[in-house]
Amino acid sequence: MKLLEDMILQKGKIINEDVLKVDNFINHQVDSKLMKEIGVEFSNYFKKDKITKIFTIESSGIAPAVMTSYELNVPMVILKKQTSAILNDDIYQVNYKSFTKNTTYNLTISKDYISQDDSILIIDDFLANGEAAKASIKLIENVGAKVVGIGIVIEKTFQPGRKILDELGYNVYSLARIKSLKNNKIEFIN
Ligand code: 5GP
Repeated sequence: MKLLEDMILQKGKIINEDVLKVDNFINHQVDSKLMKEIGVEFSNYFKKDKITKIFTIESSGIAPAVMTSYELNVPMVILKKQTSAILNDDIYQVNYKSFTKNTTYNLTISKDYISQDDSILIIDDFLANGEAAKASIKLIENVGAKVVGIGIVIEKTFQPGRKILDELGYNVYSLARIKSLKNNKIEFIN
C-alpha cells in the first residue's frame, strides 16, 4: 500500500535491526485518514470471506481493526492482555509472549463475544515472530470458531511469523512488507 509505505519511510524510526517505531502515525499518535484507507484496503481484500467479526489485540491493532470493521459492517472485538491468569467461567484465555515487551500475557475474551459460528478476521499492527497471531488463532479455534484470515499493517518478512502462518495454511494479507531494517535503512519487498 503506497500511502502506508511512504509514511513509513517519512516518519518511521528504526530502533535497531529488528524493531521499527511508528509512534507518529500508528502506535501513539494515530493518523485517522491512513486508518480509513487501511480499513478500505483490508475490507476489499477480505469481503468475499463472509466475516462475522474482526478480532484484534489491545491496543495498537484497535485503530486499523475498527476501520476495517466499519467498512465490513461487522463488530470488532478487542482481545485483552491480562498479566495473570483469571479463574472465571465467563472468559476464555490463552497464554502468549509479547515481542516488544518480552512479557507473558494471558490473551482474554469474554464468552459473550465469540461463538462457534463465527468466521473471524484477525487484524494487527505488526507481524514479527507470529506469537500474537498464533495465540489469537488458538483462542478462536479452541471455541470451534473459524479464522478466515489475518490482516497485518506492517510485516517484517525477515522474522519468522509470516513463514509460520503460511505453513499453517492461513491467508495472511500484509499492507507493507519490510525485508530489512539493516544499515539504518527501511527496505520493502515489492
Ligand atoms: P509477534 O507476536 O508477531 O512476534 O509480534 C507482534 C506484536 O508485537 C504486534 O502486536 C506489535 O504490537 C509488536 N511488534 C512487533 N514488532 C514490532 C515493531 O517492529 N515495532 C512495533 N512498534 N511493534 C512491534
